[in-house]
Amino acid sequence: MKVTRRDLLFWSAGAAAGLIVSPVPWKVLDDTSIWSQNWPWIPQPARGPVDVKQSSCTLCPNGCSVRVRMAAGWPVGISGVATNPISRGALCPLGFGAHQLNWHPQRLRTVRHGLSTSTWDAARAAFAKACSEGPVMVVDGYPGRAASHVLETFAQKHGGQYRVIVGPETRALAPYETMSGVPASALGYDLEHPQTIVSFGAPLLDGWGAPGRFTRLWADRAASSTDPQLRLIQVDPTLSRTAARAWQWIPVKAGSEAALAAGVARVLLEERLVPARGPMPPMTLAEAAAQTGLTTDSIRDLARTIAARTPAVAIANDDNPSIAALNVILGAVGTRGGIVRRSKAAKPYISADAPLPSLRAVLIDSSVPWDFTPQTDAEIFRFAAWDGGPTDGGPRNGAASNASSKPADWLLPAPGFLEELTDVPTAPALPVETYAVAVNLVKSPHQTHSTAGFVNSIDPALPTTETIIHTRCADLFREHSGTLHAQETTPVAKLASAQKLEEQLWKGAVWVGSELAEPHRSANFRCELKEWPTAAASSRSENWLAAWPAPVLPPLAAKLYQDSSLREPPARRNS
Ligand code: SF4
Repeated sequence: MKVTRRDLLFWSAGAAAGLIVSPVPWKVLDDTSIWSQNWPWIPQPARGPVDVKQSSCTLCPNGCSVRVRMAAGWPVGISGVATNPISRGALCPLGFGAHQLNWHPQRLRTVRHGLSTSTWDAARAAFAKACSEGPVMVVDGYPGRAASHVLETFAQKHGGQYRVIVGPETRALAPYETMSGVPASALGYDLEHPQTIVSFGAPLLDGWGAPGRFTRLWADRAASSTDPQLRLIQVDPTLSRTAARAWQWIPVKAGSEAALAAGVARVLLEERLVPARGPMPPMTLAEAAAQTGLTTDSIRDLARTIAARTPAVAIANDDNPSIAALNVILGAVGTRGGIVRRSKAAKPYISADAPLPSLRAVLIDSSVPWDFTPQTDAEIFRFAAWDGGPTDGGPRNGAASNASSKPADWLLPAPGFLEELTDVPTAPALPVETYAVAVNLVKSPHQTHSTAGFVNSIDPALPTTETIIHTRCADLFREHSGTLHAQETTPVAKLASAQKLEEQLWKGAVWVGSELAEPHRSANFRCELKEWPTAAASSRSENWLAAWPAPVLPPLAAKLYQDSSLREPPARRNS
């Protein structure tokens, strides 16, 4: 069963609004406790003192805060942390069951070379030999961490390449990078302030961004109201779960989103409904209507509805340049309630899906989704905590392939859940910077190494993850900006020392650069739109489904996922 991050978020998205008032989640947890006791590999926790620690989930780049219940030093239960201002206590099912993952039967316990078991020394020797014979590529699924810095430095120092897996939320921001020169990884959506959001197929209410962020916003500002403070208009060929819950659903022909964006922009400009000016789309309203299957009147109505409640922002499902151009016309770039620049420091990355040069070896970090298989004949060294089984081996995201894909030559056991010290950089699409640290609460029962630790052992001159985290904490303290969110909220400027800041982060606090109520907006983030774009999106909407498949599921997540798939999509409330 291939279960993607979006599948998992279905449950958390649907549950978030009703979590507090509904008994259903607790019933499901109760059922699951009984059901999961029958799994033969679930260990009986030792009797001993019970303790609660706070940390962050590192199973995907959303980095949700977690409260970990420990019995005799072993995690036995996970819950969300309401003081995290982004996720506000929500988790996806994978996070809820993450404590069970370390005991999963598909946990990688030994080094594997082809079909045989091998040793760490043999893997190290083989990788060092490969590095001496030709270029290597390092692939990172969770860029921005201290470990990522180690991997990137290693690749640069050894004449290799550092590539990253770009998630769908960041890919949708790529056209703004083209228009402004600001890296997509530095941009985010200020969803806390618009009055109208036009989603062109982005599944905002069923699996988009950090769990709980938009669903809680929606619950606060829109749910159950016929005239909500926040209007969500969902442009979707089918009645998706988001379309079913949205304030308005615009059914269009599949693949005609760019035509609708052009039609709406034409009306906005012709009728002077927005103050911003821009190039008139060459497509006529009649052509837009023919392509979308809508009438010219309904496109006019849509444009007027959008302009009636501003700030308004359009969110794309892919890297569609016409939807980015519509945001420029709406004045939603670099402004409150629109696309904002959250970081001055972020740099552009090269996607692992871009065509590959000739390589001697590829080193894949354990953060890379299991279904990523590089299209190369190079020797592949793959770190993973769990063996997710065979993949289809095809290129992701429609990337062109000029070489065969093959499974990893080396499978190297990585630390499991909460078995590794790592930091947690800003999640994709957030409008503010955040930083947290996930400490190694648990010792791995097997001999594991992180990818960063592995390259540190080959090149001891590289900095370690731990020293980089210390430096980052010291830098945050020196800047004296932002706030620490723990049981209490403390401005960094009020902390006595960098050590105090680091202690708090070690205990699970989250640093937030500026409040969501007032995200950082850089005056130098502007998009130049000289002519209406003619290029089509290069990534298609199925990317949402292809993103971040979990290699294995803990029983709790499997049960929650199973139950969530039993839910029928709601009927249109205003149909
Ligand atoms: S969304 Fe990602 S970080 Fe959050 S709980 Fe799920 S797996 Fe963990």
